[in-house]
Amino acid sequence: MKNKVLLEAVDKFGTPLYIYDSNMIKSQYNRLKQSFKDVKNLQINYAVKALSNISILKYMINMGSGIDAVSIQEVILALKAGVNPKKILYTPNGVSIEEIKEVSELGVSINIDNLEVLEQFGNLNPDIPVCIRINPHIMAGGNSKISVGHIDSKFGISIHQTPHILRIVENTKININGVHMHTGSDILDVEVFLNAAEILFKIAKKFKNLEFIDFGSGFKVPYYPGDSETNIDELGVKLTERFNLFCDEYGKELKLIFEPGKFLVSQAGKFLCRVNSIKQTTSTVFAQVDTGFNHLIRPMMYGSNHHIENISNPDDMERYYSVVGYICETDTFATNKKISSISPGDILSFSNAGAYCFSMSSNYNSRFKPAEAFYIDDKVLLIREREKIEDLLINQIELSF
Ligand SMILES: *Cc1c(COP(=O)(O)O)cnc(C)c1O
Repeated sequence: MKNKVLLEAVDKFGTPLYIYDSNMIKSQYNRLKQSFKDVKNLQINYAVKALSNISILKYMINMGSGIDAVSIQEVILALKAGVNPKKILYTPNGVSIEEIKEVSELGVSINIDNLEVLEQFGNLNPDIPVCIRINPHIMAGGNSKISVGHIDSKFGISIHQTPHILRIVENTKININGVHMHTGSDILDVEVFLNAAEILFKIAKKFKNLEFIDFGSGFKVPYYPGDSETNIDELGVKLTERFNLFCDEYGKELKLIFEPGKFLVSQAGKFLCRVNSIKQTTSTVFAQVDTGFNHLIRPMMYGSNHHIENISNPDDMERYYSVVGYICETDTFATNKKISSISPGDILSFSNAGAYCFSMSSNYNSRFKPAEAFYIDDKVLLIREREKIEDLLINQIELSF
């Protein structure tokens, strides 16, 4: 999206504003499809939790995407957006058996990551096939908060518990129709994927009625100019070869599923805010913006480095700024970053604001959540209104004293 488009969107809808580029989403989707073009039966399931606006879900579904959902609410949103329930895989962790039952009654495929739940579900519904989430015990992912496949992780059923899985399957007569792994986010190394895939193939052989293998996600995308990314083409070539070989051995053309969130939407999003003031201290020049970790928490929570540009004055002399929010708590977006000279009123743009940004936003400090817009066919369309004071009060019950 050109700066002109972004500035016009700000004029129209105000700040702070999230804006998502449909062309970028589509090109990432097609890039992944193209990398795995030699897999006969490929399904890409968009991970709703990355960005769950209903218009985004509809756009994904319209491209042919399936859905990766981690809560019953995400399942219901995706169904509302019009997806075929069969194209949803529900992968919860630590939810109640009641919720799993409720989702299965919606005709959605279930992914179970706990032996006890597998046994309970198998005893209750031996006729409903389920997928199992395996923990291959590899350390992968950008940092410990987003690594979910290591030995101490709460996710998945340990590969070392394969005999237990087989015993439960035998006792309950439940049918396993898929095996799944998802080992973390920001995995850079193709070899890590391939090693984990080998572990999954090994366990997959033990189940006779598989329909799919789901390799999860965790593709790393670049966050700033010069940052690295997962080599999807290389992964495509290597994993396709290995997957097709496995299908030959298995004697059936299985479906290969990926469930990317970040890969599809991260780079498509920009977060636009306005500079309230410049504050020079003895050591630092702060650019104070009209947002904070209530709207974009990734820099504070994960130490993420979102590239920041001054789009209203892009070609001036670069100076060092620390970009901070307006929350009454330390909410530093970036420390001593080189940005084209900033004045109060300028519009700053944060890159990679598509994934885990709006969806992790809150009303802390009783601020309104930002508006969201979608750039499609050279038009900017509003897909979420900025909140109003009524929204803050909507579920509150006001007592009289
Ligand atoms: C979060 C999640 C994803 C998406 O991960 P990204 O790093 O955003 O691609 C996929 N599958 C499951 C089960 C998840 O929890």
